[in-house]
Amino acid sequence: MTLAAARKAVAEVSRRLASSGMVPATAGNVSMRDGDLVAISPTGATLAELTAEQVSVVDLDGRLVHGDLEPSSELGLHLGIYLQHNAGAVVHTHAPACTAVASVRDELPCIHYAMLAFGGAVPVAPYATFGSRELAANVVAALAGRSAVLMASHGAITYGTTLAKAYEAMELLEWASDLYLRTLPLGAARVLTAEQTEAVVTAAREKQYGAPRRAVSRTKT
Ligand SMILES: [Zn+2]
Repeated sequence: MTLAAARKAVAEVSRRLASSGMVPATAGNVSMRDGDLVAISPTGATLAELTAEQVSVVDLDGRLVHGDLEPSSELGLHLGIYLQHNAGAVVHTHAPACTAVASVRDELPCIHYAMLAFGGAVPVAPYATFGSRELAANVVAALAGRSAVLMASHGAITYGTTLAKAYEAMELLEWASDLYLRTLPLGAARVLTAEQTEAVVTAAREKQYGAPRRAVSRTKT
């Protein structure tokens, strides 16, 4: 993928996030790594109208390489994830269900097998001021063994090997948070046991779950 394609992809996913309702106004940011460079949405931008030309490009030290706009105020958070984890893209939002759980709980428990896509229960990283080194450090640490975390009294962040995967992870995280909120009036939700978790991982591996595959022809009997 070229840098121009990466800027276009960041702008497209930013607009898609805005239309999904997961990023009110200017809250939220998207980035994608291309070798030693990172294409990232600019600070203060209305994501619903973001164009490829408005996407900033920085090196891994955060120096602006292309673009006229100041990169996202969460640049340090994005760069910290690229340096510490095997991420190709990062998505950060203030999605309402994620933020509701992150405002009250210390963890989103693993109540549905689909959550194993994140690595299981999703931790809530401790609160720190937006854009601060402390927040970046808290989130990077909470991501150990996970591809998603909630951020206390703030929002959510996901990463993936591709931008499409990082976006899908955010959609799934918002769905899982909403699901959890729906269980609360009903009582304590069942949490997947270690045995159930292991069985899901085995089944997913055997069936290549989550990826489209050619149908095996079946003869009618
Ligand atoms: Zn934020």
